[in-house]
Amino acid sequence: MIKKKAMLIDITLCVGCNACQVVCKEENGLMEGEEQRLSATAYTALNEYDGTYVRRMCQHCDDPTCVSVCPVGAFTKTAAGPVLYDENKCIGCRYCMQACPFQVPRYEWDSTYPRVQKCKFCAGRLERGLQPACAEACPTGATKFGDRDELIKEAYERLQAEPEKYVQKIYGLEEVGGTSILYISSVPFEQLGFKTTMSKVALPTLTWNALSKIPSVVAVGGVFLYGVWWITNRRTEVQQLERKLKEMEEGSNGQGTLN
Ligand code: SF4
Ligand code: SF4
Ligand code: SF4
Repeated sequence: MIKKKAMLIDITLCVGCNACQVVCKEENGLMEGEEQRLSATAYTALNEYDGTYVRRMCQHCDDPTCVSVCPVGAFTKTAAGPVLYDENKCIGCRYCMQACPFQVPRYEWDSTYPRVQKCKFCAGRLERGLQPACAEACPTGATKFGDRDELIKEAYERLQAEPEKYVQKIYGLEEVGGTSILYISSVPFEQLGFKTTMSKVALPTLTWNALSKIPSVVAVGGVFLYGVWWITNRRTEVQQLERKLKEMEEGSNGQGTLN
């Protein structure tokens, strides 16, 4: 059985060096340059609160709302933990962006063929037996990768070893049914921009319980979204054909080819 992976972020150990963001951009071929907020080119970003640094990134929820609301299955939750996105399936409805309880997914608004962007938990590296690039790069151990069960145990041990230092809570243990990114802190989480009144139940359970009471909404919505997907894809095909015809015209003297 595949063991569920996680990252434990010990906020007390983070020195704000930003190595996690730098290496993440390298690993994912994203535009260079320091960014203070999550964006289509920043899968992780640091927020500072009076000298305390907090990494933001996709939480890789155990039962993700983005997966449950996506009408075409562009988001999937893998057994090891990463929540992945398939740009070839995406129809650009951006339901995931509205549904995510942590406001994580970002959209490539400036792109001709926009995609949703967010942390991939370095799924390719995990498959090769490596840890995520950000965990490997972190010089202080503030970001630690491992088996989720083991990291939860370790987090409890740290809280118990220094009760005067740590807030007695592991953020992500129960929030929205549990997440793969876990935090411990010496500053109350609500003072660091964390939502602390979130449901302990996975949100898809709640949304589908509500939707199941109005099945016509699901049926009509599904047909409508399939229509949007069909139109979007047809439009893309037409645009590609038009571009190729234009290239043929420009390459006059019979040099252009329609391949
Ligand atoms: S944090 Fe948001 S984008 Fe990430 S898995 Fe959870 S619901 Fe999806
Ligand atoms: S897990 Fe990988 S993709 Fe996610 S923030 Fe870390 S380096 Fe970036
Ligand atoms: S690399 Fe580690 S210490 Fe540096 S900002 Fe990221 S989490 Fe903090």
